[in-house]
Amino acid sequence: MLKDQDRIFQNLYGMRDRSLKGAISRGAWDGTAEIIQRGRDTIIEQVKASGLRGRGGAGFPTGLKWSFMPKESDGRPSYLVVNADESEPGTCKDREIMRHDPHTLVEGCLIASFAMGAHACYIYLRGEYIREREALQTAIDEAYDAGLLGRNAAKSGWDLDIYLAHGAGAYICGEETALLESLEGKKGMPRMKPPFPAGAGLYGCPTTVNNVESIAVVPTILRRGAEWFAGIGRPNNTGTKIFGISGHVNKPCVVEEAMSIPLRQLLDEHCGGVRGGWDNLKAVIPGGSSVPLLTAEQCEDAIMDFDWLREHRSGLGTAAVIVMDQSTDVIKAIWRFSKFYKHESCGQCTPCREGTGWMMRVMDRLVRGEAEIEEIDMLLDVTKQVEGHTICALGDAAAWPIQGLVRGFRDEIEDRIKARRTGRNTAAMAAE
Ligand code: SF4
Repeated sequence: MLKDQDRIFQNLYGMRDRSLKGAISRGAWDGTAEIIQRGRDTIIEQVKASGLRGRGGAGFPTGLKWSFMPKESDGRPSYLVVNADESEPGTCKDREIMRHDPHTLVEGCLIASFAMGAHACYIYLRGEYIREREALQTAIDEAYDAGLLGRNAAKSGWDLDIYLAHGAGAYICGEETALLESLEGKKGMPRMKPPFPAGAGLYGCPTTVNNVESIAVVPTILRRGAEWFAGIGRPNNTGTKIFGISGHVNKPCVVEEAMSIPLRQLLDEHCGGVRGGWDNLKAVIPGGSSVPLLTAEQCEDAIMDFDWLREHRSGLGTAAVIVMDQSTDVIKAIWRFSKFYKHESCGQCTPCREGTGWMMRVMDRLVRGEAEIEEIDMLLDVTKQVEGHTICALGDAAAWPIQGLVRGFRDEIEDRIKARRTGRNTAAMAAE
């Protein structure tokens, strides 16, 4: 279990003072100017050395991403954009940071903006996050009043302004280029890449888009040292990680733990275990609705990190752990996701626009057992036609949970179809 002194977010549960005064008492804003004066290259090297990988879902190395920003200005401004459009079903980790520990993010924005050569930072919040916007705005105002933002922020010699922008509830605006479109006042539709945001992002200028947690951990990494962060977890999967655990556990919670913690330990130590005991477990979605589920058998040895989960055809995603016990209609659970992705598809590319509809309609019938057995493979084929053939990852996100369902629960799908058929026959015989 992660030691208390290694927890970066000391107020995740809102039990303490979230104001600037409280944050400072927990170590925030300590030596920020000194960190900045190490210089841009050193900061990026230290973030690289920490092994920090993006906490928004993709797990791309954060320091490497920062290094893509141009070193010399060509006259265009650079921007840092923080993706706080937390909309993945099951995910509420960034919410807790913004609500209860907002200064970790504000300080992180200053350091990261400096490392990126940005004098303006935009935080794009999910439309429903009203309380989080208020908490964050209060923290930003406090930081301005204390000279920690604005001109010569925190006496670092760097100028930074932070602006909050509020989404309107579209899941697709969490995709980085759709988010940039939305920030520019346009409809939130993903852009073709390349160009990547580091070359042409917000208003056509060099931009880095990072997740809330990725930015909020940076000040502590730079204060405590890259080696400290890299020493938690296992190689290529380092540091602390916030997990949001929901579903059929005795005590659902959001908790900061060591990366690579075994799934069973995570559930037992923080959630009071699976409802009805471990043997009552049916499946777990380990990283939000976009990743394939794990069967109970896979869960026995599951390690909660990027590499283990990818090697086992799932993913860490947003680390939103959705636990399902034996009472769950797992086909219906995945059908619900299909409905969600169909609804949230922006519709600009054909495989996603049409494919999400096809997948949902077949899933509709599978839930009721009304499909033919052959349609299971046809459905799989449709997911393959969508996967990897779309502008953004929403197409993959719609396909992967279905692939996981068929891999892990084909028998259950077939049994339902057969049972329905038998039922129909019985009814028909009774009518005769
Ligand atoms: Fe839009 Fe879907 Fe294409 Fe993404 S994959 S751009 S959401 S239609």
